[in-house]
Amino acid sequence: MNPLRISGTQRASAVELAELIEATERVVALTGAGVSVPSGIPDFRTPGKGLWAKVDPMALATIDAFHRDTKRFWDFYRPRFHDLADKEPNPAHEALAALERRGLLGAVITQNIDRLHRKAGSEDVIEVHGSIATASCTSCPASYPLEQVESLFDAEGIATCTCCAGKVKPDVVLFGEMLPADAMARAEELCSGADLLLCVGSSLEVYPVAGLPEMTLGHGGRIAVVTKSPTPYDRDAVVRMNGDVADELQAVLAALDR
Ligand code: ZN
Repeated sequence: MNPLRISGTQRASAVELAELIEATERVVALTGAGVSVPSGIPDFRTPGKGLWAKVDPMALATIDAFHRDTKRFWDFYRPRFHDLADKEPNPAHEALAALERRGLLGAVITQNIDRLHRKAGSEDVIEVHGSIATASCTSCPASYPLEQVESLFDAEGIATCTCCAGKVKPDVVLFGEMLPADAMARAEELCSGADLLLCVGSSLEVYPVAGLPEMTLGHGGRIAVVTKSPTPYDRDAVVRMNGDVADELQAVLAALDR
């Protein structure tokens, strides 16, 4: 991190957040697409970038689209998953893993499917939108690790189950699908019990995840928001940082080390 990129106000917020984290018993993080942007993963809600330029990913990322035109779904997602599998965590992921190692952060709830929190060393990660780590057959209980998915494609370009020849779908939540019940229940429990919810890189606009900070506030906990774009919770946040997430979280770590 280049310290020159952190302004005086930002430094004050970093110190404030560091002190708050140290003084608070139960701290939980909630992360969204913004935390992976410094790893070169575009926020897919930002149109017009790379792979997303020609297709509306929102239209393709539905369970109906998967069943209706599985080849088209995979034509689009196969290279994207390849690309995602090679991405590496950035200093924002690393800062959250460091907080957990120091016993200052209980868990990370994430909307991201890229596995980067785990790659960075975070141990308690709740992936409420699933993850690219595995793919499952839609007709039988077979499940495949990401590394094996490539070997499942048939001549047409559709990932096919080796047990029953059913369609294999990545274990990420598509539009029109329910969020994984276990993960959501755990996320709700954590947010209800958190004394501080650290929201990083999420616009906090997509429900049901957007309702999680409300649970923390409803139980008398506090929230801090570290993200560039405005969020519906900005006025409730005790600390609000809007610089680059990697710089901001590294500044918080640096403040803890002083
Ligand atoms: Zn099967």
